Amino acid sequence: MSEALNSIRSRIAAAVEAAGRPADAVQLVAVSKLQPWEHIAPVFDAGQRVFGENRVQEAKERWTPLREQIELRLIGPLQTNKARDAAGLFDVIETLDREKLARVLADEIQALGKAPRLYVQVNTGEEPQKAGVTPGEADAFVATCRGTYGLTIEGLMCIPPADKDPAPHFRLLADIAARNGVARLSMGMSDDFETAIACGATSVRVGSALFGAR
Ligand SMILES: *Cc1c(COP(=O)(O)O)cnc(C)c1O
Repeated sequence: MSEALNSIRSRIAAAVEAAGRPADAVQLVAVSKLQPWEHIAPVFDAGQRVFGENRVQEAKERWTPLREQIELRLIGPLQTNKARDAAGLFDVIETLDREKLARVLADEIQALGKAPRLYVQVNTGEEPQKAGVTPGEADAFVATCRGTYGLTIEGLMCIPPADKDPAPHFRLLADIAARNGVARLSMGMSDDFETAIACGATSVRVGSALFGAR
């Protein structure tokens, strides 16, 4: 039993219902980065099976013994020299954000004969310290990923500026996805996942509200 997990699950269900969306419209990605195993174990034992990590090495060390039992998502920046490891390890990579990475991932997918599902990260606030393509570059980047590199883009991901109302950022991401025929939206974290669900999130990435402060 995990009270935190039960609480987050009911808040997600309430937000989904309030938005008039189907009960299974939103997936919870439990962000386990930097958490000690004693914080993760109750959530895993309570049945949570989708986890997000922001570093390849940390994810590998933590999840290798349980790898077959979970869906593992990379939500942190990916260096091209780690692309092979990442493509082999993760079910989903949410941080595709530049052409060189698209090219390297396409090569690794070819070599591995298996492909992680891919999300393009969009820097909706155009913050210099954040990864992601700008909203202005997003259409062309998605087209290049598909057309030049043969990649399937499952979704878009964003991390809105910390100090601003996130809703316009979530709506912007949803608009970019809709006009590019991209089905899924990874948006919303501990402080704003209900707002993200109202704006169309199909997965929310919740860390501290589930596991405690890092
Ligand atoms: C750490 C992290 C989260 C989780 O943040 P919380 O505020 O702890 O819920 C979500 N998304 C990304 C990309 C992160 O790096």
